Amino acid sequence: MFDKILIANRGEIACRIARTCRALGVRTVAVHSTADAAARHVALCDEAWPIGAAPARESYLDGARIIEVARRAGAEAIHPGYGFLAENAAFARACAEAGLVFIGPPPAAIEAMGSKQAAKAIMIEAGVPVVPGYHGDDQSPERLAAAAAEIGYPVLIKATAGGGGKGMRRVDAPADLAEALDAARREARSAFGDDRVLIEKYLLTPRHVEVQVFADSHGEVVHLFERDCSIQRRHQKVIEEAPAPGLDARARQHLGETAIAAARAIDYVGAGTVEFIMDAEGRCYFMEMNTRLQVEHPVTEAITGTDLVAWQLAVAAGEPLPRRQSELTIAGHAFEVRVYAEDPARDFMPATGTLHHLLTPPPDAHVRIDSGVRAGDTISVHYDPMIAKLIVHDRDRARALARLRQALEGFVVVGVSTNLGLLGRLAAHPAFAAAQLDTGFIEQHRDTLLAAPTAPDCRMLAAATLHQLLGVEREARARAADSSDPHSPWHATSGWRLNTDCHRTLHFIDPLRAETLTVVAHYRDDGFRLETPRETLAVDGQLDAEGHIRLRVDGVQREARVLQDGAELTVAMAGETRTLVIHNPLAAGMDDAHEENRLVAPMPGIVVAVHVRPGERVDEGDALLVLEAMKMETVIRASAAGVVETVHYGEGDQVAEGSELVVIGEPATA
Ligand code: ADP
Ligand code: ADP
Ligand code: MG
Repeated sequence: MFDKILIANRGEIACRIARTCRALGVRTVAVHSTADAAARHVALCDEAWPIGAAPARESYLDGARIIEVARRAGAEAIHPGYGFLAENAAFARACAEAGLVFIGPPPAAIEAMGSKQAAKAIMIEAGVPVVPGYHGDDQSPERLAAAAAEIGYPVLIKATAGGGGKGMRRVDAPADLAEALDAARREARSAFGDDRVLIEKYLLTPRHVEVQVFADSHGEVVHLFERDCSIQRRHQKVIEEAPAPGLDARARQHLGETAIAAARAIDYVGAGTVEFIMDAEGRCYFMEMNTRLQVEHPVTEAITGTDLVAWQLAVAAGEPLPRRQSELTIAGHAFEVRVYAEDPARDFMPATGTLHHLLTPPPDAHVRIDSGVRAGDTISVHYDPMIAKLIVHDRDRARALARLRQALEGFVVVGVSTNLGLLGRLAAHPAFAAAQLDTGFIEQHRDTLLAAPTAPDCRMLAAATLHQLLGVEREARARAADSSDPHSPWHATSGWRLNTDCHRTLHFIDPLRAETLTVVAHYRDDGFRLETPRETLAVDGQLDAEGHIRLRVDGVQREARVLQDGAELTVAMAGETRTLVIHNPLAAGMDDAHEENRLVAPMPGIVVAVHVRPGERVDEGDALLVLEAMKMETVIRASAAGVVETVHYGEGDQVAEGSELVVIGEPATA
């Protein structure tokens, strides 16, 4: 075994590799870009070296620099993780030339599988079934069109150098081929510097089933069963599970043996995944082989009781495989979900920002969390937007799924949009529970999975309201405790005032629906009576310093968590998470008649459009300016007719809550 290795990666996979190294007593060298100087993977390794600027090309993809660091740090081997340099044969070769062990397959095996086209040729030779298609060198549009016609529509264009779903286009009719071909080539050229493509039969409602294989340098090859990764968005995995539901023992054995044959065909060593696409009749076709550890390897670890990173280190050190095929069995069922910083409602657009709060369910024998970030870290444009992986394991699929639903409830992210809501709905979907899996699942169930948000539950509004009222109370008590007269009526927090109704009015903006929700809280001896937009509730509760609220709503006790970041309150309750923005009408100049000609920002945001100029006449309700906050656009409208006197901000300016935006004067007479 090695004494010291360098981990040439970042994020969750770098942390995950460091964890096994620590368990094995192997010392670790982290590398990091300037953006990652304080990253979690840096903190988890024994030493950390800077390797360049934030863009991956200038740091994590700079193989020469990383090899230089490995030599200077005295590392014996380099683990590339996945992505970056993991499937780079030239890098694997350069490691060997520098006297370093590359913890991965031999360069020739990486090369053999690097091109989907060459890989298919090898597999056909080895007798492994492949999807019918054209994998030839003639890339002329005429030849490709003839091939597509022969295969029969729909067809799928794939970049031969492809990966991560890039450079792929489905084509349903001959008339659309030319345009799709151009688009696929453009994408492939910019992503892989290679615009060659192949054409395959597009299988309808297929499943993605892949087999984990492992080979040592003594000629032994085993498989560690399969994973089903059919729940995808944009041809990229979102949920993976092991074993694949509905596969019988014979089919499983056959698939495992086919994968082993594929690995043997290229003299494979180390961890690899053979990906198959399974048609509606259960026939499996080779799709590609990923010559690395896969993002979803933890589900295989869960059902086989193995540590695949430990296996990788052993094999790279020349040791035999820790277990033989006959010693590998499946125990229970496991799921992994990928928590991404992205916006499912906006076609899964990646999101960036600071993770103000990151709550994860407590790990235990059934729940594992692999994450590369902590609260306070930033999800930047430079790297993959995956925040964490949540892995659950239990006796059977139904129990594992119940664990998944429960664990997802304990996951709260504040600061960036995530796919957590979608994951929760997937985990609760009856068709998913019934294992009706295919790669079009999300698209097919779009209506329920990506439904427009409904108004927040009034219990969530109650929790947000209590957070505000009890928070004020706690502050007042703290002030009273410091003051000379703790019993002074001025410190009272019951809402009691001379000759006035004992109530407070709170306004919340629901940014998902661009709607203002008003709650009137009446103080009562035993708590509050809350008038919410739809219901009136009797509410009482306690708030602790961590934002936990134990609230009693109409006599029923419930738990909620409220996390505040500036004007934003994130409420997590009963498996749902919603963000509400505290709207201060005084700051917004809404309730104050004298202020109606001064328009101020209702929340912090960025000015994205200015529609008026000083001197311009406006009518009541005219759009003056558009503010973007919480990724939602809010239009600031004239509260009365008049003439614009001042516009304080321009496009792109950042504004604080309550800042004066526009001043409107009396309409000029005549
Ligand atoms: P897999 O096939 O292993 O399930 P995907 O194809 O969804 O995974 O994503 C793996 C690919 O995505 C990697 O090869 C890499 O290009 C990119 N990727 C994902 N996460 C990261 C990361 N944390 N660091 C670098 N690359 C990543
Ligand atoms: P990548 O290198 O991007 O991972 P793959 O060839 O592994 O590309 O395909 C990614 C995904 O695209 C698969 O998981 C599957 O959902 C879909 N896909 C690939 N080939 C086909 C096909 N012939 N028919 C239908 N869907 C396919
Ligand atoms: Mg793939």
